[in-house]
Amino acid sequence: MATEDQETVDAGLNDVERTDKEYVFGTWAYQSEVSPTEIVGGDGVYFTDARGNRRLDFSAQLMCSNLGHSADRVADAMAEQARTGAYFAPSLTTENRAELGRLLAEVTPGDLSKTFFSTSGTEAVEAAIKIARLYTGKHKIMSRYRSYHGATYGSISVTGDPRRLMAEPALPGTIKAPDPYAYGSTLEPMESLEYIDEMLMLEGDTVAAVLVEPVVGSNGILVPPTEYLPRLKEIAHDHGALLICDEVMAGFGRCGEWFGSDVFDVTPDIMTMAKGLTGAYAPLGATTVTPEIAAHFEDNMFCHGHTYAGHPVAVAAGRAAVETYIDDDLIPHAREMGEYLGDELEKVAADHPSVGEVRGVGLFRGVELTKKEGERVPFGERKDKISKGKTVVDEVSGHAWKNGMHLANMINTLIIAPPVVISEDEVDEAVAILDEALRVSDDAMEN
Ligand code: PLP
Repeated sequence: MATEDQETVDAGLNDVERTDKEYVFGTWAYQSEVSPTEIVGGDGVYFTDARGNRRLDFSAQLMCSNLGHSADRVADAMAEQARTGAYFAPSLTTENRAELGRLLAEVTPGDLSKTFFSTSGTEAVEAAIKIARLYTGKHKIMSRYRSYHGATYGSISVTGDPRRLMAEPALPGTIKAPDPYAYGSTLEPMESLEYIDEMLMLEGDTVAAVLVEPVVGSNGILVPPTEYLPRLKEIAHDHGALLICDEVMAGFGRCGEWFGSDVFDVTPDIMTMAKGLTGAYAPLGATTVTPEIAAHFEDNMFCHGHTYAGHPVAVAAGRAAVETYIDDDLIPHAREMGEYLGDELEKVAADHPSVGEVRGVGLFRGVELTKKEGERVPFGERKDKISKGKTVVDEVSGHAWKNGMHLANMINTLIIAPPVVISEDEVDEAVAILDEALRVSDDAMEN
């Protein structure tokens, strides 16, 4: 049942929004609380709704519109491919698919070289799980509690955040380990690795892979210490397990490098990508593996595929997007803007007692809130993610929305991940709106 507040919101919906609410499921939501906003345009880091409100996109929609909302090169490549031939079966190919495969081998770390294309992050993770199982002949996958890997059954089973709870019982053979979360965990990040080591030992030789986001995204932008990921790879290999890095959110400039793995100079055995791969112009997932893993499937069947694996229009978008990152020097730009953003956020945080911690890397930053100055007392708990109603962090994002900015959040952390094409002036504009919005959480603090 809609609350009185929600009834007021619903009364303000226009015809398109009302029709949408009636006939289309809102994702990850109690349907009574859904209130879609009709969007009619996009331009650089801005997008505009049907009432003419223009908003700065400080979270690149779902941390995916890395190229902003008017990357004509990508749009043109898609249109051209759609006219040439919108769809051919995966057993056929196009120049765009071959070239995107080659480009990914070039930009991914180390010797990662052969790619399976799908249509989303969750499918990229499903493929990674299947490849790891087929390659190692083992069935278990270890991941971490503060993680999100997708919504289909395999990937939600390896997800550790509360969204998994509604999908349980999960896929058998999925194990969760502690996370590197210095601010919010009783374990030191490097100590959490000792648990992983011990857990892998106790599981015996049954774990096919350890799956991690190199920089945790939606669960709060958690950046591990520099030595964490290299050591995790060693530990996994010592126990005969592969390392899978899920770069769906962390990749394509988000961390100020091509990939989160590059921040730590690590080459995983398998890497998953989506989101920024096309700058969100088309649904495309990718799972890239090392030559050793690729060689295994020369004479063992690669028993996997989808009708739209490597869809011609999607790979055209992917190729044009990767070429845009390269030709427009967007990775160094993201690094430079990321440093600027980090400095500006620190300055703003100093003025707001409700900011517990600002953390992150590149253009991937989290602002975690606290009810008590100088202590960690979250406004929202993990379970709030699947509860009805709004939390203080939602109210902060709501204030930003009313003042011209999209600002995502999760549990108790604001997620700042703008398009990598953002300029210094746009960072200034966004940080000023954030500064105002944080008054909401300051006012909600305990005395
Ligand atoms: N992996 C990570 C790290 C993600 O952040 C996400 C989505 O946010 C996914 C996988 C799932 O991607 P998709 O929503 O495209 O299925």
